[in-house]
Amino acid sequence: MGYRAQIALLFLAPVAIVAAVWLLLTDAPMGRDYVIRLDLPEPGDPVELPAIAGPDDTSRPLVVIDPGHGGHDPGASGGGYEEKALVLDLARALRKKLVEGGGIRVALTREDDRFLVVEERFEMARALGADLFLSIHADSAGDREGVSGASIYTLSSTASSEAAARFAARENRADAINGVTLVGQDEAVNSILIDLAQRRTSEGSAQFASLIEREGAGTLDFREAPQRSAALRVLRAPDLPSVLYEAGFITNPDDAARLASPAGRERFAGSMARAIRIYFARQALVP
Ligand SMILES: [Zn+2]
Repeated sequence: MGYRAQIALLFLAPVAIVAAVWLLLTDAPMGRDYVIRLDLPEPGDPVELPAIAGPDDTSRPLVVIDPGHGGHDPGASGGGYEEKALVLDLARALRKKLVEGGGIRVALTREDDRFLVVEERFEMARALGADLFLSIHADSAGDREGVSGASIYTLSSTASSEAAARFAARENRADAINGVTLVGQDEAVNSILIDLAQRRTSEGSAQFASLIEREGAGTLDFREAPQRSAALRVLRAPDLPSVLYEAGFITNPDDAARLASPAGRERFAGSMARAIRIYFARQALVP
C-alpha cells in the first residue's frame, strides 16, 4: 500500500466504521424504517354495504352521509341528549330532503345504533363509489355552556399528505384512484397520480365546505370562522371529497334543543341539501 493510500485509509476508516454502525443500528435496508398502524376491520370480515336511496341510476351522483359514533360509543352528551342519536336524526332528515329533491343518490353509513370503526365509514363510501362524503357530529365544550355554533371541518394539508402516503403503503399500489388503476404502474408515476388525486380531493372538500357556509348563512348558527381543518381520521379517503360537519354544541342547551327539534333538523336539512346539490352541479355531476 502506498503512502497516499495509507493516509486516505487513516481518514476513511472512521467514516467507514460510523457508516457500518449506522447501518447496523438502523436495520438496513433503508426505506423500511416506518411502522404503519391502522384500525381496520379484520380481513375476511367484509363491510356490510348500506342501501342506496334515490334514483336507481348509477350515473347519478352519490353522497354518503355518516352519522358519527353509535353503539357503545355515544359521542358527546349533555342535557339528556346523546350525540349518536342526535346526528342519526339529522342524517335521516338530510337524506329525506335530498331524495325528495330528486336526482341525487344517498346512503347512510349506519341506519341504527351500531358501532362502526372510523375507517369502515369512508371505506363503505369508497366501495359504493361515492362522489361526496359528509360526516355529521355534534361538539362538546365540556363545562363551558356558552360555547355554541356549528363548524365545518376539512382534512388539514399535513394530515392529507400523510394520509396519501399511508394509503399508498396500505393499498400496496394495488388499487384504483379516480379510475386510474395503480397496479403495475411505475412507482414515480404512482406517487404523482396519488398526489394529483389527493389535490383534487382537497379542492373538492374545500369547495363543499364553502358551500355549506354560504348556503347555511342566516339559517344555521355557525361559530366564528366556521371553516376549520384538522387531522381527522374519518376524512382520510384520498379520492373522496369529505367534510365533517359539527352541527353545534350538545353541551350548549340552545344548540342541543335546536338540533333535536323538528324545526332545527329541517333547517339543517334544507341548507345542507342545497349545498350538496350546488356542489354536484358545479362538478357537472347533475345534468
Ligand atoms: Zn362526534
